Amino acid sequence: MTPIRRQYLKIKEAYRDSIVLFRMGDFYETFDDDARLVASELDITLTGRSLGKNLRVPMAGVPAHSVDSYLARLVRKGHQVAICEQLSDPALSKGLVDRDVVRVVTPGTVFEDSLLDQSVNNYLAAIAVNGAWAGLAYADITTGEFSAVQLPVDQLPLELSRVAPAEVLVSRSTLSKWESDQAHGAQDADYRFTPLDDSLFEEETAAANLLAHFRIHTLESFGCEQLPQAVSAAGAIVDYLNRTRPSGNLCSSTGPVEGKRVQLGNLTVYSAQQYMALDSRTRRNLELFEGGRNKDRELSLLGAIDRTRTVLGSRLLRRWLGQPLLDLSALERRLDAVEGFCSNGLTRGSVTALLASVPDLERIMGRTIAGTVAPRELLALKSGLECLPDLRKYVDELGPSLDWLRAGLVPSPEVVSLIEAAIESEPSGAVGEGNAIRSGFSTEIDELKNASANARQFIAGLEQRERERTGMRSLKVGYNQVFGYYIEVSKSQATNLPDDYIRRQTLTHAERFIVPELKEYESLVLTARERLAEAEEAAYRRVCAQVAESAEIVGRAAAAIAQVDVFCGLAQAAVDNGYVRPVVDEGQVIRIREGRHPVVERVLSSGEYVPNDVELSNDARILVLTGPNMAGKSTYIRQVALIVLLAQMGSFVPAAEAHIGLVDRIFTRVGLQDDLATGQSTFMVEMVETAAILNQATPRSLVILDEIGRGTSTYDGLSIARAVIEHLHNDPRLGCKTLFATHYHELVELAGTLPGVRNYSVAVTDEGNEVVFLHRIIPGGADKSYGVHVARLAGLPPGVVNRAWEVLGDLESSQESSRKRSVRASPSQQLALFPATSSLADDVLALDVTNMTPLEALNKLYELQEQANSLL
Ligand code: ADP
Repeated sequence: MTPIRRQYLKIKEAYRDSIVLFRMGDFYETFDDDARLVASELDITLTGRSLGKNLRVPMAGVPAHSVDSYLARLVRKGHQVAICEQLSDPALSKGLVDRDVVRVVTPGTVFEDSLLDQSVNNYLAAIAVNGAWAGLAYADITTGEFSAVQLPVDQLPLELSRVAPAEVLVSRSTLSKWESDQAHGAQDADYRFTPLDDSLFEEETAAANLLAHFRIHTLESFGCEQLPQAVSAAGAIVDYLNRTRPSGNLCSSTGPVEGKRVQLGNLTVYSAQQYMALDSRTRRNLELFEGGRNKDRELSLLGAIDRTRTVLGSRLLRRWLGQPLLDLSALERRLDAVEGFCSNGLTRGSVTALLASVPDLERIMGRTIAGTVAPRELLALKSGLECLPDLRKYVDELGPSLDWLRAGLVPSPEVVSLIEAAIESEPSGAVGEGNAIRSGFSTEIDELKNASANARQFIAGLEQRERERTGMRSLKVGYNQVFGYYIEVSKSQATNLPDDYIRRQTLTHAERFIVPELKEYESLVLTARERLAEAEEAAYRRVCAQVAESAEIVGRAAAAIAQVDVFCGLAQAAVDNGYVRPVVDEGQVIRIREGRHPVVERVLSSGEYVPNDVELSNDARILVLTGPNMAGKSTYIRQVALIVLLAQMGSFVPAAEAHIGLVDRIFTRVGLQDDLATGQSTFMVEMVETAAILNQATPRSLVILDEIGRGTSTYDGLSIARAVIEHLHNDPRLGCKTLFATHYHELVELAGTLPGVRNYSVAVTDEGNEVVFLHRIIPGGADKSYGVHVARLAGLPPGVVNRAWEVLGDLESSQESSRKRSVRASPSQQLALFPATSSLADDVLALDVTNMTPLEALNKLYELQEQANSLL
């Protein structure tokens, strides 16, 4: 085995869970199983290499200069990659070059812009569970955001799905318990869990890690000293970052760069009670971030309201949308801000224009701290910071109620003037080419540049001077890699030359010479170039370090700019779309006048959308909405949920007037979607979700039920739907507000017996076989389903439609006759709800049960079952 093979195996042993990219010259190589995996994942050639006597191992490699894109693909596919660099300069080292892993790249510790979506945070999360409590911490290492929460274990899945982390750290014992525990395993399984030793989650270890990371003596300032699980989770994150060392120094050809580690901002501890709860299904059902068949961002709620100008703002808006508030005063502040920008179009215009030049301050700052920022990005940082005084002025114009917002917009004039003084206005890409640091900033650099310029000038003037001295007009000064600068003379003239000419090279037609003076200047040029590169790199590092010192203040300004951007954007959306400010209070009423669906109305041409009212209160808390398919039921019930959600994130809403009593959680159950991903049948999913709602809703919750019971036979479905409404109505623990859309028009009878239930339907005009959907919600229930009308509208062949009319006619008349009988037989309300639709009931009623033998009964039962089966 060669020494290099031994070196590799030792390193691989320590990073067994990762693909090891082993630096060898200009390539990163992988070996053995890693090579096979990488070759197939990246679609590159699998080769082999001899690494000992009779030892040939599989190998696959990627060029170092383009490692980023390969890395991106591996990480996106869920792999973890350890980057093993050459630690000593191969040219200088005798024998084996030192190598070690400088960084492990995992989905949650990705740092490179090329691997990230700008408008979404990339979170690394950690979970610590202890008994009934769980801690959840998460960090975005590119922006420095770092948060933690402690909450009852059963709320953990909800919070985790809100954060939607790219990677979740969890102790080995917790993970194996979950894996054996089906109940947990069935929850959203699409997280990438990274198991870690239990010891890392011990509170003492975790607290020590946190204290060391932030260089503080007590966790009190973070407000988490009484929250052991939150501390454990946060500590695990810090430890993991220490071990994976994200720093962004991937591709240095000259060995490791002394890049600083990623820095996290201060830990923010929050409470899950601060926010409206939205589970992942509800976010999906309401199409908050992607909508339509193709999961299009434009067809989502976010798409309808996002007018942000900066990536800072777009990330914040996304966060807010997934985290509506429950705190009235915080909400009022947001609404005030949106109103300020709404009513002042001029200021809004100026702010919008100004924001266009604000770059991703958070991520640029992250790279500045890590020492990998490009000069151009520093200039962008500067122009972003330069907007602050003007932004402040504009926010000032909106009045004293927004003082809190203005207060965050703190300019950093020292950073601006430092970058202004230090960085060339048109810097070249790389530092060290003499084109990054502005002249006047460093005397050393200026002198080196002067010396080298002088020397160049001397060399440039030499040709003319030597032509004059020798009288040879064809004399030339040139340069090549091997000999450096030289004087070239044609062969025929090379005889009569000054004494100081020293011959260096003979060509067919020419001779090349040097003079001592030329070599002096040449070495000046060459050493100046090297020294200049060094001096520029050093100066640049100093500038970065100095800028990094202002990380906290710049971070706060970036957060304030993000808010201004979101408010201004929400105001713009409100103006563009005709939204109004909602009244939000602690009351129990939801009253919306002329509400609209924010996404559907955008798809329709103007004036086409029919606005509708809603009123829900303790007295009228369940609204049963009947009407044919395609009438607009789903649109209506979702529009109510979306308006509530918008109001509670601090946005204006699509309505003429909206009064929202705070909602603590929105539940949705939307029928007819197979959850193939989790392998559960439609009906099973439907029932699991319904059960969750019935177990968890509170009087402040808003429940949206769309076509409950549809996944099973008519009778089952109808029975379940009815039982669910009765339970929602009668259980004293629930009392939630419910919008129930159904095509079972039989359910309208419920309003007669349950005082909190109100019937509404979607207005339809029905002339003969022509039906027109008016999309208007009116009091009272629908009397029929119009299914065949819809089938005709959908373009079913006329033959099929006509036959359907025939069958429907038969069914209706047999239903009518059996209803008469069943009313005679048993006048109970219950039975009237389930009129027999076939002769089955007739047959049962005709049986003379008391006079049947057991065998006859059994035979009859078998026959009836056959009949029932044929009906399904
Ligand atoms: P349902 O749930 O009753 O089957 P949907 O809510 O899916 O019906 O609505 C069907 C279509 O009707 C929508 O895609 C939309 O184009 C249109 N629609 C719904 N509500 C309205 C409305 N209020 N104004 C105008 N068009 C509407």
